[in-house]
Amino acid sequence: MPDTPRVAIVTGAARGIGAATALRLAADGHAVAVVDLDEGACASTVDAITEAGGRALAVGADVSDEESVAVAVEAVATGLGAPTILVNNAGIIRDNLLFKMTTDDWDAVMGVHLRGAFLMSRAAQAHMTKEGFGRIVNLSSSSAQGNRGQANYSAAKAGLQGFTKTLAIELGRYGVTVNAVAPGFIQTDMTAATAERIGMPFEEFLKAAASATPVARVGQPDDIAHTISFLVSEGAGFVSGQVIYVAGGPLD
Ligand code: NAP
Repeated sequence: MPDTPRVAIVTGAARGIGAATALRLAADGHAVAVVDLDEGACASTVDAITEAGGRALAVGADVSDEESVAVAVEAVATGLGAPTILVNNAGIIRDNLLFKMTTDDWDAVMGVHLRGAFLMSRAAQAHMTKEGFGRIVNLSSSSAQGNRGQANYSAAKAGLQGFTKTLAIELGRYGVTVNAVAPGFIQTDMTAATAERIGMPFEEFLKAAASATPVARVGQPDDIAHTISFLVSEGAGFVSGQVIYVAGGPLD
């Protein structure tokens, strides 16, 4: 039997992993709020969903801003219904070695990943606990285990793992599960930006990443969307507080 159709929020869904996840959750039968910094940038994801027969709403919001988050979650509840699925995917990188990392670069990364996931989860849980059902998925990363040039990003992604486990403990009794997906190398604009920063052609960067991966390829946004689709499903109700590495090989 298909799952009950729900209202899902996917942040950072204008492109990359977020866009693939929004499309997948819509294909699973859910109405999807496509949240990104610029409302206009959400159009391609929203159009792809509606053209395929799904329901979607574009919402411009900065997840690191408390007021913006409150307005966005309210707009979703009014426009689509009470959100009971939340995917905290919005992310930025501001890579540099520690001695060159500015305080602004540290704060910006913490703001989007950690503060953003906190603000969005706190706003959405009010609807989930009221409905007695909820699914929160946070995007961590294999970088949580440490990655040169990413002191800010790896700290934020490791922090999201602790955040995930704590929310799982607090919200479980209300029918809400909270999990993290930690991708390895996924082919998106974010990894293209990393290639550019280190001065390597993207194709070469992809080949190097594939050869360092046990399944001998890089990941695609759909690989992550597939895992998220499982975690937000009704049948995954006994999976909570987990960090699932989706990295083409073993990590823990
Ligand atoms: P992406 O292509 O750069 O997309 C990220 C999206 O988030 C962009 O549309 C961006 O908007 C949006 N965003 C940034 N700051 C925001 C804010 N304050 N409020 C709302 N939206 C905001 O990234 P991706 O590769 O798909 O990554 C998605 C998530 O997976 C991130 O959390 C990332 O850290 C994580 N991840 C990615 C990889 C990978 O290999 N790609 C690996 C591990 C984890 P703008 O375009 O306007 O900036």
